[in-house]
Amino acid sequence: MRDKCRKRAVFIDRDGVINKLVHRPGIDVCGRRICYSAPWSYRELEIYQETKSSLDALGRLNLLKFLVTNQPDIGYGLLPREEHNKIMADIFALGFDDIFICFHGRHENCNCKKPKPGMLIEAARKWNIDLGNSYMVGDSVSDMEAGKSVGCKTLLVSDSLKTICNKYDFVAKNILEVARIIEKNERRKRNDGNFY
Ligand SMILES: [Mg+2]
Ligand SMILES: [Zn+2]
Repeated sequence: MRDKCRKRAVFIDRDGVINKLVHRPGIDVCGRRICYSAPWSYRELEIYQETKSSLDALGRLNLLKFLVTNQPDIGYGLLPREEHNKIMADIFALGFDDIFICFHGRHENCNCKKPKPGMLIEAARKWNIDLGNSYMVGDSVSDMEAGKSVGCKTLLVSDSLKTICNKYDFVAKNILEVARIIEKNERRKRNDGNFY
């Protein structure tokens, strides 16, 4: 029987969605060459201007807002713990209902690092969330895979990835467009009861 008390949520990735990525062309992180990374200091944190109002709009739709973020860089020695704590204080102040962080590195084989859905499953248990009627938002393929593997609708915040990723339901330019798409989808749901 369907549990009517279950709540619905939007799971939201952090870097590249809530705050800007930091451009570091050709830098080596744990044996992988990358172009963009998470901020490695509080000074580098730049929250997108439209983030706060977009999160507020999602909250008005009666959806819980959960941050689900991989943060392996402390373990890799790239981000001091105190800087991370300062960054997360600003992020939490944006109005998230809860925050789930995987601190594990690529070789630790944990169950929480996206693309694995461990953080979504933990949130669902803790908050009684109906995952099949919830959303996952992110700017990487692993975000889409984590969301899809537990039945969420997925929103990809990236123009360049949409050709190589087939695990998304919607594409958005930024968090503001995410809020607009979800608003529209919720209106459709209210009208005919279907979750698109
Ligand atoms: Mg990201
Ligand atoms: Zn983990």
